[in-house]
Amino acid sequence: MSQARLMNGNALARQTVEQAGKRAADLTERTGTAPCLATVLVGEDPASVTYVRMKQNGCRKAGITSRHVTLPAATTTEELVGTLEALSADPGVHGILLQHPVGEHIDERAAFEAIAPGKDVDGVTFASFATMSFGLPGFVSCTPGGIMRLLDEYGVDPAGKRAVVVGRSAILGKPVGMLLLARNATVTYCHSRTPDLSAAVREADIVVAAVGRPRLIHGRDIKPGAVVIDAGYNAGNVGDVDFDSAAGRASLITPVPGGVGPMTIATLLEQTVDAAARQLGLPGV
Ligand code: NAP
Repeated sequence: MSQARLMNGNALARQTVEQAGKRAADLTERTGTAPCLATVLVGEDPASVTYVRMKQNGCRKAGITSRHVTLPAATTTEELVGTLEALSADPGVHGILLQHPVGEHIDERAAFEAIAPGKDVDGVTFASFATMSFGLPGFVSCTPGGIMRLLDEYGVDPAGKRAVVVGRSAILGKPVGMLLLARNATVTYCHSRTPDLSAAVREADIVVAAVGRPRLIHGRDIKPGAVVIDAGYNAGNVGDVDFDSAAGRASLITPVPGGVGPMTIATLLEQTVDAAARQLGLPGV
């Protein structure tokens, strides 16, 4: 059985962060202002605390200043919206990341919409979803954006291909499908109500797994030569794809970890520099 080539997200993310770092340094030198990302965390969920810390570490590596706002778990929607509106209006902040999920008592959509579209470097607002969907300039949702970068890096042109996206969350499944559609793939979305997931996956030239169910997708359903992108991350460093069986049939596959994950943060940093460059009047940097 042939073995798929690995899509190395760690290597591409390193390159992307290095590039973002050079642009951040150039911008800082020319304007006297370093790009600044504000991170907002509600409560103390350990996974969220870790993700925010990873994003702040990334900022440090790329010469991006980060400002962190921690709010208590009992924060109301109105208070969170107020915080995000204040950051949106603050000229010292160029990008805003609201770590999610926020508590269930909070209206997450209202919170996202309080982020100014020009600072929405995590690509979570309606405005960003619209520009993504129309293939217009704007900020992409970071994990989907990172996935598209991986496809480009490995020479996978989605045009004319059948792409099957498993999962339809607002931050991952839906936007990655729209980005693939904007690049002329024929896109099928699958979700928990899809009656025969295996049959849908068997049709795919490109499979994007974005579910959060360990090893849900097995190699027996992978079309020989397909490209397999596993965005899932489950306990024990396990993806949504059964890696060993899928790698025996795919032409390209992302490992977990070290595939999609690192590209998410790299995309966030890159978009923070883009946002700062636009706000500081040097959009070409
Ligand atoms: P989510 O909001 O829970 O969405 C999961 C999606 O999977 C839903 O659309 C759900 O369908 C669908 N689904 C659930 N069970 C299914 C099944 N048996 N068959 C087909 N579809 C099924 O999750 P998410 O936030 O998109 O995250 C998905 C995965 O990606 C998680 O493992 C998460 O950790 C990972 N992730 C990774 C990164 C990264 O940076 N690498 C970033 C974000 C997320 P319904 O809509 O019908 O409920």
